[in-house]
This record gives sequence, C-alpha cells and structure tokens, in this order.
Amino acid sequence: MSGKLIVICAPSGTGKSTLLSHLKEDHPDLQWSISCTTRAMRPGEINGKDYHFITVSDFEKQIADKEFIEWAIVHSNYYGSSKKFVDEGLKLGKKMLFDLDVQGVDSMKAIYGKEAHVIFIEPPSIEELEKRLRTRGTDPDHVIKERVSNAQRELKRKNDFDYLVLNDDVNEAYKKLNEIVTCLLNA
Ligand code: ADP
Ligand code: 5GP
Repeated sequence: MSGKLIVICAPSGTGKSTLLSHLKEDHPDLQWSISCTTRAMRPGEINGKDYHFITVSDFEKQIADKEFIEWAIVHSNYYGSSKKFVDEGLKLGKKMLFDLDVQGVDSMKAIYGKEAHVIFIEPPSIEELEKRLRTRGTDPDHVIKERVSNAQRELKRKNDFDYLVLNDDVNEAYKKLNEIVTCLLNA
C-alpha cells in the first residue's frame, strides 16, 4: 500500500484555510498534517486541531531532536511538520494533506520529489489579498504588511509547482481544487 502526499501552498490571505476546510469535509480519508507553530493563536483556533501552538524553546528543542520533516520561519514565526506523522502515514499507506509555505514545499520536494503533489493557490491580485486579510480581521496592521510583502515574493514562485488554482470566485476555486485532489486520490 503506498501513501500519498498532497501539499497546498498559498500566500497568506489567499483563502487557503477556507478552501481547506471544505476539502477536509469532503475527503475525511485525507489525514490532515497538524503543524507546530510559535505564532499566537487566533480567536476561534483550537490548539491541537488547527495547529499545535508551542513555545519557541519547545520548537527549538524539537528541531534539535529532529522531530520535523521540514520546518521554516514564516512571517517571523516558526512552523514545522511532524516527521513521525509522515513516516507512519507513508508506512500505513495513508493519504496526507499539508499546508506549507514555499520553503516547506521546497523541502518536501527535495525529499519526496514527484511523490509530493503540490497545488499552489493564487489570489486574483495583491490588492485583493490585502483586502481579504483586512476583512478577516485577525492580524494587526504590521502583521498584515509583513504578510502582503511576503505574498509578493511567494507569488513569483506560482508557476514552479504541479498545479495552479486561482481563488477569485470561491466556489469555482473549490471546484477546481476538489477535482485535482479527487484525481490525485484515485490515481
Ligand atoms: P488564508 O488561509 O489563505 O490566509 P483565509 O481562508 O483565512 O486565507 O481567507 C482570508 C479571508 O478571505 C477570509 O475572511 C475569507 O472568508 C476570505 N475569502 C476566502 N476566499 C475568498 C474569495 N474567493 N473571495 C472573497 N473572500 C474570500
Ligand atoms: P498562518 O499563520 O496564516 O496559519 O500560516 C502562515 C503560513 O505558514 C502559511 O503560508 C502556511 O502555509 C505556512 N505553514 C503552516 N504550517 C506550516 C508548516 O508546517 N511548515 C511550513 N513550512 N509552513 C507552514
């Protein structure tokens, strides 16, 4: 039995979490990789469901103990994916879903090559992305500015991956994303 690695990558504010929540509902067989992060929890987030929210010293200990398959500093915080989750999932033939920034994608591709299927989601424009971040209302102004600036850099990589989905109309975007994931799961 062979496992499957599906990675979603999108600049913050694109609408990735919105699309992923539908994907998780429609594909309960997909095992969601719950990352560790040192960023502060947003209202409504659940520790152990959205992320494992841990301290910088705990994160650095886990780096030293080689507990991450990949980790990166994104928007000034640590984020990392559990090595044990991936190793055990692959051994058991599980289908796994990841939400990573481009550094994390590069690390996964370096390890798993074509076995890691990467879907990049792009916003209609940087202005619309900023508007979405402001409408979401979860981040202070300086964090939004940092995320918009990082988004401009990440968008330069949009054609480097296996699939590209535009999130303009959310229903259209989900339809396309779901088609790609369904196809990958049935392959
Ligand atoms: P991300 O996880 O990529 O940072 P979110 O899923 O939190 O982004 O979405 C950011 C904001 O944009 C949320 O308020 C969400 O409801 C909204 N949003 C998501 N997709 C769309 C879309 N296609 N059109 C307009 N607003 C959207
Ligand atoms: P957010 O703080 O908005 O939840 O996520 C910020 C960014 O971190 C997003 O681009 C998301 O894809 C990325 N991210 C989340 N988890 C991980 C992870 O485990 N590793 C890496 N490299 N990036 C992650």
